[in-house]
Amino acid sequence: MERLTSPPRLMIVSDLDHTMVDHHDPENLSLLRFNSLWEHAYRHDSFLVFSTGRSPTLYKELRKEKPLLTPDITIMSVGTEITYGNSMVPDHGWVDTLNNKWDLGIVKEEASKFSELKLQAETEQRPHKVSFYVDKSKAQEVTKELSQRFEKRGLDVKIIYSGGMDLDILPQGAGKGQALAYLLKKLKTEGKLPVNTLACGDSGNDAELFSIPDVYGVMVSNAQEELLKWHAENAKDNPKVIHAKERCAGGIIEAIGHFKLGPNLSPRDVSDFLECKTENVNPGHEVVKFFLFYERWRRGEVDNCDAYTASLKASCHPSGVFVHPSGAEKSLRDTIDELRKYYGDKQGKKFRVWADQVLATDTTPGTWIVKLDKWEQSGEERRCCTTTIKFTSKEGEGLVWEHVQQTWSKESEVKDDSTWII
Ligand SMILES: [Mg+2]
Repeated sequence: MERLTSPPRLMIVSDLDHTMVDHHDPENLSLLRFNSLWEHAYRHDSFLVFSTGRSPTLYKELRKEKPLLTPDITIMSVGTEITYGNSMVPDHGWVDTLNNKWDLGIVKEEASKFSELKLQAETEQRPHKVSFYVDKSKAQEVTKELSQRFEKRGLDVKIIYSGGMDLDILPQGAGKGQALAYLLKKLKTEGKLPVNTLACGDSGNDAELFSIPDVYGVMVSNAQEELLKWHAENAKDNPKVIHAKERCAGGIIEAIGHFKLGPNLSPRDVSDFLECKTENVNPGHEVVKFFLFYERWRRGEVDNCDAYTASLKASCHPSGVFVHPSGAEKSLRDTIDELRKYYGDKQGKKFRVWADQVLATDTTPGTWIVKLDKWEQSGEERRCCTTTIKFTSKEGEGLVWEHVQQTWSKESEVKDDSTWII
């Protein structure tokens, strides 16, 4: 959170499964559209928060399966664990709050008396969350009975039924909504209360997100019956909450537009972005557009015309150098020439490129250093390079690529680096 010195322009707080991530879309198109938009228009001055029912173990698994961006803040295990930054530093203040009237031993003991409850995997049992599966037809009755028993034992717990099968028992002060309220309060104390906050969800455990005052909300088009029912009973007349027409991350983009929270045109929705030379110099934009072009070039989705590569070459400094992750150095212009040979080599194949954590700094006037993680998915293989690009710009002229350096990130086990162009 130290990254920003002033209040974020937008804070998106999104659920993952069936909200940010569309499990019915093997191409992950809506997620990739969101990613480009976020890195292009919001990363530098906004916060991305993932709020998921998943435990840290299952969250990390999802990150390996899907092209998820790195959030600034991660709220896991249904609002019982809040962590910050890439290294996921836990919020100890939140842990102290959750210990109030909570006893894990008693919760497990009472719940074990119900044969209808089937304990979820060990990784899903957390210090402040005990999770079961229960049949839809039994959920209401079991919840009622359990609540009474906990009350008798002096506990103050919350029982959340979600996704038509998951039953989570949490401290009363926990849950996605309370975690968000805690976070907003904390940001306010630090002078970083977001100008706008948008909560996004699809199921029962997301309902709380939409009850936090001054927060915009979007229920994605594919939202579960339980959430729509909650909305009809509790928030029908709240103009700040909408039921989107689009699925998953597409619904999030739709809501950004509906509530006028900022730009809502993803670079992925622009077919000829090389044509639109932006009037204001923004190296972050340049990078997102370049890697999108690179994906389309190799997929053979743009015209194979010299104008593209000529324009790219023209924006590279004549003595500009590219340091390949293998350590080999070559001229930037030669790299563009080499790229020409790879036109359409990934046509009809599973090939996607996305940029994560694109951040530009301008320490000297007219010079920018852009850092990002460049991801490439080819078939079942995923690779990531930490990429540093130096740009210069003269008054009234476009950006000039001066230097590009890439190193394999820790996650990438690279056996063959010959097909990694840039
Ligand atoms: Mg969900």
